[in-house]
Amino acid sequence: MKDTGKAGGLAVALVDALRETGGLWFGWSGDVSQEGSFGSMKLDTVRRVTMARIDMTSADYDEFYAGHANRALWPVLHYRLDLAVFDRRYEEGYRRVNERFAARLRPMLKPDDLIWVHDYHFFPFGAELRSMGVENPIAFFLHIPFPAPEILAGLPGAEGLVRAMLAYDVVGFQTERDADNFRRFVVTEIGGTEMGDGAVIAGGREVLARAYPIGIDAEGFARQAVTPDARRHTARIERQMAGKRQIVGVDRIDYSKGLPERFRAFERLLEDYPENRGTVSLMQIAPPSRSEVDAYAEIRRELEGLSGRINGRFADLDWVPIRLLVRSFTRRALAGIYRASRACLVTPLRDGMNLVAKEYVAAQRAEDPGVLVLSRFAGAAERMPEALIVNPHSPEAVANALQTALAMPLDERRQRWQELYQRICDENASVWAKAVLDDLRSHGRGQASVS
Ligand code: UDP
Repeated sequence: MKDTGKAGGLAVALVDALRETGGLWFGWSGDVSQEGSFGSMKLDTVRRVTMARIDMTSADYDEFYAGHANRALWPVLHYRLDLAVFDRRYEEGYRRVNERFAARLRPMLKPDDLIWVHDYHFFPFGAELRSMGVENPIAFFLHIPFPAPEILAGLPGAEGLVRAMLAYDVVGFQTERDADNFRRFVVTEIGGTEMGDGAVIAGGREVLARAYPIGIDAEGFARQAVTPDARRHTARIERQMAGKRQIVGVDRIDYSKGLPERFRAFERLLEDYPENRGTVSLMQIAPPSRSEVDAYAEIRRELEGLSGRINGRFADLDWVPIRLLVRSFTRRALAGIYRASRACLVTPLRDGMNLVAKEYVAAQRAEDPGVLVLSRFAGAAERMPEALIVNPHSPEAVANALQTALAMPLDERRQRWQELYQRICDENASVWAKAVLDDLRSHGRGQASVS
């Protein structure tokens, strides 16, 4: 797993799961080594968990990470074949880094270890380990969407990628739709057979492919929202809003997040429901990401242009419709910002899960909660039907849902929030990690080699 330095709920849940038995966390340090060779390994052990982090070279970074992972796999898996860049050099770098990482992990493995591989950077990691004779049970979890077979088939090498996934014992996805897409690919493109309960057989291997929707530490996040730091952020916004209402959005700048569509939908709200002019504003927190990829730089320019145009059209002496903040905040500050916001707009065109949706719910005041407007194309929608579910491509639909959110009576807000909050507490990050590992323990037989 890539070490982002951001101790989110996921990293905490994984480290907690490791702590129970003791274990090894192995991944990229996030650093690019200056030497020409594959970088050195940093090892630290804290409370039964050893962190082994390796650097990569700048060629690895360009080809494996910025190249194949983020220019080819990310867009295709988010249904954006039109934005994908396919390059044999990138693909070779991707294979090379997977092989080298596997070779570095191999001598550190013990015979009774369970191995859990994370995300699209490491699809072939299990197959690499198998080819080195590793027979331990191995699970894989994909944090982002797995597209319909008709889309994935457009990726050069898609069949090889899916065949490599058959080296795992358990393959986990965020939603039933993603798991179903994987099984359909195995059946229609490589002649596999579904065995029921998520199992598929192909090429003499049986893999359990199921949905394990990822959770957050909801109660922990709710506690963050009442820390002095979070309260300062809530108070700052409430003072500034002085009786006006705020809608919030929090998304890395990424074409999958539907940000220009969201700004247009907010503009539509101001056009169709003029009573909101002067009283409702949208705060969009948008940390830049992957700015070395052209499509990301373009979307930032587009957002700056759109917010400028909409603000120019509607702003008044004491009110600005859209505040675009191209920067990041700590999760604690975000908790305070969510709490000061009457509605949250989570409208990705595609998203594996979307943790912001869950965090917004966790941060609300039980006595006066805000409303979540959620894209049907976010994985989170599958388990959050009490949100206002929208088609993010339709400005009318999103504007209407926002109007409904702003007008929703307190009783209905409380009722919807209660159900959502209960579910995110029940389906938290620890429950998620345990579900995957339990299945791996019961189904992981290990398989000696990969054909
Ligand atoms: N986040 C943050 N600071 C920011 C913006 C986002 O810490 O300024 C966190 C946010 O709280 C959430 C994560 O980044 O935990 C974003 O996860 P999500 O699943 O919503 O989207 P991703 O960025 O993984 O596509």
